[in-house]
Amino acid sequence: MKVTEHLAKAQRPPISFEIIPPKRGDHVRDILRLVDELKEHEPPFIDITSHPAEVVYEETPDGIQRHVKRKRPGTLGVCALIQNKYKIDAVPHVLCNGFTQQETEDFLIELRYLGIDNVLAIRGDDKGYRKPLRDGRTQNAYARDLIAQIGSMNEGKYLDEYLDAAPTEFCVGCAGYPEKHFEAPNLETDIRRTLEKVNAGAQYVVTQMFFENRHYFDYVKACREAGITVPIIPGLKVLTRRGHLKAIPRTFHCEIPQTLSDELEGARASDVAEIGIQWTRQQCQELLAGGAPALHFYVMSDASAVSSVIAGLSR
Ligand code: FAD
Repeated sequence: MKVTEHLAKAQRPPISFEIIPPKRGDHVRDILRLVDELKEHEPPFIDITSHPAEVVYEETPDGIQRHVKRKRPGTLGVCALIQNKYKIDAVPHVLCNGFTQQETEDFLIELRYLGIDNVLAIRGDDKGYRKPLRDGRTQNAYARDLIAQIGSMNEGKYLDEYLDAAPTEFCVGCAGYPEKHFEAPNLETDIRRTLEKVNAGAQYVVTQMFFENRHYFDYVKACREAGITVPIIPGLKVLTRRGHLKAIPRTFHCEIPQTLSDELEGARASDVAEIGIQWTRQQCQELLAGGAPALHFYVMSDASAVSSVIAGLSR
């Protein structure tokens, strides 16, 4: 079932999750354990991130060696497991960076065979590896272009022309940034870019994590004024370690409110996770009261903090 159908049919705002495929060489059993725990919260859908190849430098006896590695393959396999073993809709992330349009088309064909109805279309970040484009291969520059490619397939138009090509029926989501995407000159321009994604066919938006609800509510208001009418799902992350105070703003370009950072810095190490859990639970209650259509948790690979948040939530 499509994410938009789940949202429309839900009796109360649903809770969804985002998880990350195992590292190259790791076993899938940890993912199964994670999904076993998450399914208790009855998620209508679970997102699975995608990861392109990146440049890795390794010190060897012969000096520094440059390698191109895909550290986390397996998005397709994890999606197939979730969709078929758990009967939960899997939402694979599909990327521009690191993939040619031809590879993307192949990926989408595989997803269709697996009965996967949803994708989140994402540009990705520069990981230092530029895939050489040979033999007429092409790449999507922005998420908007990727969404247009999926939209074409939904109309039965593939990269090569086929007679009687079967149209796909993907429901497409895209990313939004309440505190603006770090490359955008300002929030207004960034929202205009998000509108372009919606006009290209995105049917809902999932936001980057934020720790101050004001950012989400202001963002939704600004999006509505700009003409974006699709559901905007808030993305939430629970802070469980003091190290998050540096790592999260550096990686995700979002602000941690001073009250929260002061509290975490002054707490005993054993109390840090509980402070993060209470903060997120409070965020969730306010978001639900303010009309958020769903709650989307960035779980990645450990569900315990998120499960504690949900356990104390009144919906
Ligand atoms: P875009 O929408 O393409 O925007 C990127 C930047 O370009 C923005 O600053 C935008 O304003 C600007 N822009 C857009 N169009 C144009 C244009 N035509 N001309 C000039 N500028 C333009 N990363 C991963 O590697 N794997 C994942 O699975 C993954 N999942 C994510 C899920 C969510 C919900 C979110 C919020 C992020 C995710 N990311 C993931 C991170 C994402 O790859 C980065 O945030 C990336 O920098 C931007 O992706 P985007 O799809 O928002 O890009």
